[in-house]
Amino acid sequence: MSITCPDCHAELEPQNGVAHCDRCNKDIPLEARCPECHKPLQVLKACGAVDYFCQHGHGLISKKRVEFVPV
Ligand SMILES: [Zn+2]
Ligand SMILES: [Zn+2]
Repeated sequence: MSITCPDCHAELEPQNGVAHCDRCNKDIPLEARCPECHKPLQVLKACGAVDYFCQHGHGLISKKRVEFVPV
């Protein structure tokens, strides 16, 4: 899935919870959401790795399945 820059509408690749727009030269903070219930996920950071956990019964969500939305 992809993110669109709110300013110039360029397609951005989300990486580690932010999307960087080269055209605007800024970082857009993203919120991770559960693909099942669309509620914000708890972000668990450990040793440089990031895990996403749904507190509404869906458990750990793999990074590929996380929905990122601009905050
Ligand atoms: Zn932009
Ligand atoms: Zn969920």
